[in-house]
Amino acid sequence: MRGLKGKTVVVTGGASGIGAATAARFIEEGAKVFVLDRDPQGNAAILKTLPELTGACLCDVTDAGQVQDGFNEAVRRMGGVDVLVNNAGISIRHPFLEITGEEWDRVLAVNLTGVFRVAQTAARHMVQRGRGVILQTASTNGIVGYPYYADYNATKAGVIELTRSMALELAPVVRVNAVAPGYVLTPMQRAEYTDAMLEQVNRKLPLQRHAQPEEVAALFAFLASEDAAYITGHVYHLDGGELAGGLASR
Ligand code: NDP
Repeated sequence: MRGLKGKTVVVTGGASGIGAATAARFIEEGAKVFVLDRDPQGNAAILKTLPELTGACLCDVTDAGQVQDGFNEAVRRMGGVDVLVNNAGISIRHPFLEITGEEWDRVLAVNLTGVFRVAQTAARHMVQRGRGVILQTASTNGIVGYPYYADYNATKAGVIELTRSMALELAPVVRVNAVAPGYVLTPMQRAEYTDAMLEQVNRKLPLQRHAQPEEVAALFAFLASEDAAYITGHVYHLDGGELAGGLASR
């Protein structure tokens, strides 16, 4: 990718799954990377796996103070932030009729309010510096309906609209795009699907498999690079063909 060498990148949820693969990819591209994640063991592990990381800081995106402190620490350690990958998210598999108020609030707090909070913190910094790129992790669940994830789906649809609105307001200084992965084989996915369920999903997908986290990371790297300098306000599906056929293909 062009233009990533020496860039400074913050990845939220960077201790696991898509975030960890993204941190690794940006390091491979010659960027400096700082991880913000709420999981202390995950942070310790990623620092071991990726010794080239500039740092990993304990940060729960639902806590405004921790977001500001974590972001300030990233700025202090890297001298500024060029790219934000706003990726931390959670999901709970549960029928709509059984979603509790507490679960609804928890999913929204991380996936939508948390994404907003980190995005606004980064955008203020980038506007002041006169440049920047913000990339957010949406989902195909934010594009079409899926049973058992109503709260999660609502947050991902929100991330998509947040992305478009931010892109309009922050142009031409900051580019803002989202990636909407379909099924990606990460700890989040493994936690909610049995082997039989994974196999069943694989059979339904045109490409007959889950995505690897590294494939999502590659799209983030492209969208942050100079090769994507004219791209803003878009949502990129990375779904193995999942959405191509709609109902007819099921
Ligand atoms: P993982 O659970 O593997 O990684 C997510 C990381 O984010 C974990 O380290 C997690 O910590 C951390 N995290 C969770 N909540 C917070 C928080 N409040 N503040 C800071 N960090 C937090 O998930 P994935 O890599 O699968 O998911 C990454 C993103 O991709 C999410 O936004 C998800 O919705 C999205 N996505 C995933 C898909 C998939 O199939 N896997 C498909 C489409 C989108 P902890 O372990 O403590 O929860």
